[in-house]
Amino acid sequence: MADLSCSKIVKTRKIHSCELCCRSFPIGTEMIVYSGIFDGYWYNYHCCNACSKLIPLLDIRDEGIGQGEMMSFVSANELKTPEELLEKLQSKIIT
Ligand SMILES: [Zn+2]
Repeated sequence: MADLSCSKIVKTRKIHSCELCCRSFPIGTEMIVYSGIFDGYWYNYHCCNACSKLIPLLDIRDEGIGQGEMMSFVSANELKTPEELLEKLQSKIIT
């Protein structure tokens, strides 16, 4: 369980890769930075827009999600990108 965490939206000033899907994003992309303490360790990572929206939809907030693990959710749904998974999950909620 996370003891302390916060997130903020930043516009990247260098190339960052998303911690969850491992894709890299160019300078000037809006990404979400999560930081806090988890199990006594300080963490700080960049996350792309699609992955950050997927976290609450996938109900994985408590257990957390490891580096690159978003892609296993994406491929489990026979999709290729987190954006496609987001679209699929959001359309399920609306209908
Ligand atoms: Zn991502």
